Amino acid sequence: MFGMNARRLPVLLFLFAVCSFCGGQTATNLRFNIDAVDKSADPCADFYQFACGGWLKKNPLPGNRAYWAVFQQMRDLNQERVAEILEGAAKAASGELKGNDKAGQGPDQKKIGDFYGSCMDEKAIETRDLGGLRGELERIDAIKNANDLAAELAWLHSFGTDAVFNMGADQKLADASQVIAYLDQSGLNMPEPGYYTSDDADMVKARAGYKAHLEREFELLGDQPTHAAAAAADVLTIESALARAELTPVERRDRKLWYHEMTLAELEKLAPAFPWAGYFAAIGVSTDRIMNVAVPKYMQAANELMKSTPIGSWKNYFRWVVVRAATPALPKRFRDANFDFYSHTLGGVKEQSSRTEQCTRQTNANIGEAVGREYVRLYFPPSSKAQALEMVGKVEDAMRSDFEQIAWMSARTKQEAIRKLELLRAMIGYPDYWRDYSSLTINPGDALGNLFRAQEFEFRRQLGKIGRPVDRGEFYETPQSVEGYHDNPINVIVFTAGILQPPFFDPQMDDAVNFGMAGAVMGHELSHAFDDKGHLFDGDGNMRNWWTDEDAAHYNERAACFVKQYSAYPVVDDVKVNGQLTLGENIADNGGLQLGYRAFENQARAMPEKTIDGYTPEQRLFLGWAQWRCMNITDAKAKELARSDGHSPGKWRVNGVVSNMEGFAKAYGCKKGDAMVNAEPCRIW
Ligand SMILES: [Zn+2]
Repeated sequence: MFGMNARRLPVLLFLFAVCSFCGGQTATNLRFNIDAVDKSADPCADFYQFACGGWLKKNPLPGNRAYWAVFQQMRDLNQERVAEILEGAAKAASGELKGNDKAGQGPDQKKIGDFYGSCMDEKAIETRDLGGLRGELERIDAIKNANDLAAELAWLHSFGTDAVFNMGADQKLADASQVIAYLDQSGLNMPEPGYYTSDDADMVKARAGYKAHLEREFELLGDQPTHAAAAAADVLTIESALARAELTPVERRDRKLWYHEMTLAELEKLAPAFPWAGYFAAIGVSTDRIMNVAVPKYMQAANELMKSTPIGSWKNYFRWVVVRAATPALPKRFRDANFDFYSHTLGGVKEQSSRTEQCTRQTNANIGEAVGREYVRLYFPPSSKAQALEMVGKVEDAMRSDFEQIAWMSARTKQEAIRKLELLRAMIGYPDYWRDYSSLTINPGDALGNLFRAQEFEFRRQLGKIGRPVDRGEFYETPQSVEGYHDNPINVIVFTAGILQPPFFDPQMDDAVNFGMAGAVMGHELSHAFDDKGHLFDGDGNMRNWWTDEDAAHYNERAACFVKQYSAYPVVDDVKVNGQLTLGENIADNGGLQLGYRAFENQARAMPEKTIDGYTPEQRLFLGWAQWRCMNITDAKAKELARSDGHSPGKWRVNGVVSNMEGFAKAYGCKKGDAMVNAEPCRIW
């Protein structure tokens, strides 16, 4: 919601959102399984069918899902485990449970138990009604002038809301070791500016739905219908003006467009209508350092809005901001309204998730690292961490020898690449130091207070970074999330304890399978640090292009091979893979499996593995790569993803990569002319 997480958008493994709680099947014993293989298929004709055919048959699409995949089964199981931890902690916190293993042992067990338990206590939430919000609404009602307005903004920001703009901390682009204050565009309550500005029929419809939703919310707060309609119009006017000044998501792909260093004096000159000194004093940020005023034209537009908008209209906008922030801990009528608009109207979701699911999500989102500590204790032993770290090290070694031999990089660029690799840090499972939640108060039976205090704790934690050296050991995802990412300004690759679980990473499986699954994905993330985006940041995380123009030309020439290869792959009917849209991920997939394969081969020379179930280690490695991507999907969803997802469909993520690899042809005895043998293989890493 704020701070570095939201700002940076690390390269996540799963681009499209996965509905974790939509029901359907859940496999409780997930493991690489040779029964997934369709022995009647020819691996050299269609390896995906060979490796996944059995799985696809045994795992038909559940009626309530648009797609169903191995990684979804893994996410579902993960959610069940986290919910179980929280249920146990809540029972222990309320004294109902004693001495049970599931009750946990960490120092924050009582906090996660009380946070989750208060969220689940719907009776208390209904009884309290709007009582917990009364103070907020009264303070908003008492606003009289610009100074009051600034004070209220500072207050709203302090518990995590993004009213008018976002306040947080950011690394300096040219010196990534330093953290400075950061002010960015934010304050819209629909997903992106196009929802306010576009004439597209869907957007016009969304806007009308939003207006109706706002009216409903104000009526729930007790406004008369005519007043609710006027208040809704105020909100739309303010947010539309902000939307017109925002950079679009496409513009924000250019990091330099949202980075502008300024002093306080320069900010005051840019946006003089707002009492900045008072604002910074209120949130407790020193103004003697430079800050990143990310989008100056946005701040100017906000400044104009401050001048032209009546105080009464601001009050309505603030009332809406505060009620939206409070919704997860408000009575059901507010949560239903929120679901109807945000999930149903905007997202097409038919059914509201259960309270257990909502409260699990809330606890993860607000004090997630405390939950993660318990998850790690139960599901990620030190031996798993050691094994995964060793694997990453082997994949890094494979990359280093690749750099030494690579034909298209100039000698100087190779040195830069090797230096970046040496400085890159792999973080596995969970952070070296657990977050200290001791200053956070969580009370039983106070869902709303807990929510706001947890968000304030996070806001203070973010601001506490300003003026300090950057913490390169921080996790931007919780340990229990099922995620992996790479981040350039910190120069890390991260794999959470939640993803380092079977079948993706399985200490009980042979290394061949693990290198085909986790090893290849480690290689995938690693390669992003050196690709067409990665080369804009050096090993210290500073924004500095370390490619020569010649390197770029060679890279692009080789990239064109992938564009041509993938663009020929059919999806559904006449829709084909968009080779340009999926280029970055296809390159990372190809590099990833190459690196995973070579890392395994290097290891196998010293420690050979046996043939298992009739498959050689190399054959199993490629089966591992494929099984991670088995997926049943509706035609409609496949078409939608072909237009919007940066990743290729599962079938082509499998076949596209193996058909470029000599090692695959060797493992399965495929010959020139076979569909899985690309006559002119594409290769970057
Ligand atoms: Zn990727």
